[in-house]
Amino acid sequence: MGTSTNTDNVLGSASSIPSTAMWVHGSVYNTSVLSHELGHCLGLYHTHHGTVFETGGDPNQCAELVNGSNSTTCGDYISDTPADPNLWNVCRYNGFITDANGQTYNPSSNNYMAYSDYSCWTTFISAQSQRMRDFIANTSILKNAIVPVISGSTPICSGSTKTFSATDWQSSYYWGNSSNLSISGSGSSVTVSPASSSSSGVGWVTVNNGGQVLARLNVYIGKPLSSDYDPYLLMKNQTITWGEANWLQYDNIKPTSYDWVIYDYGWSIVNRIGSNYESVIITAPSKYDGTYVYVRAYNSCGYNSLSLVGHAGAFKSPSSSPYPNPVSDILNIEIDADAAQSLLPVKGASLTFDVRLYDGLGNLLRQQSTKGGSLQFNVSSLPDGIYYLHIYDGVNSSPEMHQILVEH
Ligand SMILES: [Zn+2]
Repeated sequence: MGTSTNTDNVLGSASSIPSTAMWVHGSVYNTSVLSHELGHCLGLYHTHHGTVFETGGDPNQCAELVNGSNSTTCGDYISDTPADPNLWNVCRYNGFITDANGQTYNPSSNNYMAYSDYSCWTTFISAQSQRMRDFIANTSILKNAIVPVISGSTPICSGSTKTFSATDWQSSYYWGNSSNLSISGSGSSVTVSPASSSSSGVGWVTVNNGGQVLARLNVYIGKPLSSDYDPYLLMKNQTITWGEANWLQYDNIKPTSYDWVIYDYGWSIVNRIGSNYESVIITAPSKYDGTYVYVRAYNSCGYNSLSLVGHAGAFKSPSSSPYPNPVSDILNIEIDADAAQSLLPVKGASLTFDVRLYDGLGNLLRQQSTKGGSLQFNVSSLPDGIYYLHIYDGVNSSPEMHQILVEH
C-alpha cells in the first residue's frame, strides 16, 4: 500500500493488509508516514479504500456512503472515519463530487490513513486504534509485546486490604510481592494486604511471566515512617531549606503533606513551600542558641511521630544533648563536669549542677543535683508535650536549656 504525495513520490509501503513487512523512505523515516505504514501492518485500510478501488487483494471492496449506512461492509470497514473519495490538494479536500445518494463528501484530512499530504496526518480515530490493539492481541507473535499495567491505590493501612489489578492479563502471568506484603487470589485482580501487623514502609507488587518482571507498582504500607537524618548545624543568620526530596524517591508513595515544627526560643519557620508544605525555609537569627527542627508527615493512614530532621545552632554548654528526644520513658542527661569547669572564668571551682525539668507553664516537675556524670529523669507518667530542661551550673546566672518532646 504505497503512500504518495501529490508529486507521486512513493514514501513508504506495506506489503499487504495485515502485513508482516513495510518500509519507509529515508527522507521521511521520522514522520507520520511511519504511522501510516504501521497502520497497514496492524490491519488498517486507507480511508478511501473501496471508494477508490485499490490493489492489494481485497476482492470485496466497495464505496462507502457519506451517510455511513454501509460503513461496516464498505470503505475502510471502520464506521467512524468519514467516507473519503481521495481528492486532495495537500491538506485540503478539493472535490465536489457526490456519492450514490447525491451527498457531498466531507473526509478527514488529518487521519493517518488518508491520502492527504503526510504533513497533515496527526490522528487515528478510536475505532482505528481499537482495530490495531485487537490485531496485536490476536496475533501470537505480537501479543507478548503487550505489557500489563498494574493499578491499585496506596498506601495500604495496617489491618486493611486493597484490590490490585493488571491490564492485558494472560493465563501464564503470576503476581510477585515484597516480603512485607501478601497477596491472596489469582488472575488479573488480587487482594493485597500487609504481611503482618508490624509491616510498614515501602513495598511493591509485580506481574511476572516466565521469571521475568513485566510490570511493577510501588506500594506504601501504613503511615509514613519516621526517618533518620544527620543533624544539620545551622549557623547565625543562615537560611536552609529542608525538603521532601529527603523522604521517598517514588512519586506514588510519598507522604501527602507535612508539618514542620521548630522548638526553640524565639525561632520561627520563615516560609513553607509547596502545596503540601513539602519543604521549609528557616533562617537562624543572630541569637545563637540551639534548636531542633522536626517534621511530621501525613498520608491517608495517618501521621508519623515527629522526626528530627535538623539540629540547628550550637549549644554553648559542654553537656551533651539529652536523649532520646523525643522521649517516652527515661530521659538521659550527661554532664561533663571537667569540660564545664574548663570554660569557667574561675578555674578550679567545683561545680554542682542543678538539673530541672519544667512544663510549658513553668511548673517544676523533676529536679536532681549532681557533680557530673549521667542522670535520668523518668517521664513515663508525663503527658505528651513540650518540656524544658534547665541545667544550672551554679556559676552562670542563666541555665543551659533544652527543649524535650515527650511522646508516648
Ligand atoms: Zn497506504
